Amino acid sequence: MRPTYLEVNLSQLKQNLENIRKHVSPAKVLVVLKANAYGHGVDGVAPFIAPFADYIGVAIVEEAIHLRKLGITTPILVMGGTLPEQLPDFFEYDLTLAASSADLLTAAEQLAESTRKPLKVHLKIDTGMERIGVHEYEAEAFIEKSLACSHLDIEGIFTHFANSETLESIDLPIADSLLSDSIVKPSLQLERFEEVLSIYEKRSEPTPRIRHTANSGATLLLPESYYDMVRPGVLFYGVYPARDVEKIIDVKPALTWKSKVVYSKVTLPGRAVSYGSLWQAEAQTRIVTVPCGYADGYFRRMTNQPRVLINGKKYPQVGRICMDQFMVNVGDDDVKVGDEAVLFGNGITAEDLADWAGTNEYEVMTNISARVPRVYVEGAIQ
Ligand SMILES: *Cc1c(COP(=O)(O)O)cnc(C)c1O
Repeated sequence: MRPTYLEVNLSQLKQNLENIRKHVSPAKVLVVLKANAYGHGVDGVAPFIAPFADYIGVAIVEEAIHLRKLGITTPILVMGGTLPEQLPDFFEYDLTLAASSADLLTAAEQLAESTRKPLKVHLKIDTGMERIGVHEYEAEAFIEKSLACSHLDIEGIFTHFANSETLESIDLPIADSLLSDSIVKPSLQLERFEEVLSIYEKRSEPTPRIRHTANSGATLLLPESYYDMVRPGVLFYGVYPARDVEKIIDVKPALTWKSKVVYSKVTLPGRAVSYGSLWQAEAQTRIVTVPCGYADGYFRRMTNQPRVLINGKKYPQVGRICMDQFMVNVGDDDVKVGDEAVLFGNGITAEDLADWAGTNEYEVMTNISARVPRVYVEGAIQ
């Protein structure tokens, strides 16, 4: 196998799920397995974790079909946008549709009627994200339509928060026109969601049986957002959705990105390392090469910033990160070909990588490419 690989501790993921479940009980837990299980490798994570999940969430129908082909029988909600021509897949693979518009709902009802097949549907309400979903102020007609859909099982209703963590997580330039008090607060989104639920009460109709709103941030910060189910993504993977969030649920990361030194040489003073000559040896030093690069998801824009653990000691990455390799300055230490390098894990955190790359922890994990084999282990957890 390739010496550069990602070790995924399945026992840790299970422990994270158990800790989340304990905290939110009696609410159910939908485990988010989109984006290759946040980079952890869905082929290994899904079969292991599915028996412990009440529901599975993915972004796109193709991810859901992949899970069914792996033999997963847990209910799967496709949370993202769906095109009408993708609807037959929902029937064929027994998937739950996020109905994000009246048109999609109507198309689903017609297909359910003509094929005489059942379909589970969750109504998607937009309470402030301005992404997919029916605005809360247009929800009445949408709900009315859903109540008339006699061939669908309207199992759920949900919304998604725009700012469930803190404003610290906004690391991009904010539009000049945006006043700080126009940032959509989760409490406002919950209020709007409650208004939508009250439509059922007004009509003496029961609400759909699974009402859900909470992503990881809300799972940590907003117990009133749990309703019947929570949808933790990043938190299930052991990473907190923001730096200053209260770590009220104990979770730990499950990833260790490992490699091995593939070359070791002494570089003379004045010699520059890698493309662009962005780092120069001031004194004679040992430079080692690690066979991992930006094509593996080790971001090029981190150049000259990361620390890498070699034989358990932290060293600076130096010179432009290449597509398939990068270099590390180990000074006077006797580092040899074959010595272990750890790029992520064992004290090098998703937060560290996110800072070096100028991005968030989500992108760090989901960016680790398919070229990096995933190795699944069970046992000792942190
Ligand atoms: C991705 C996603 C989540 C999980 O978000 P985290 O911040 O990782 O917890 C929850 N709900 C929806 C609709 C999503 O798309």
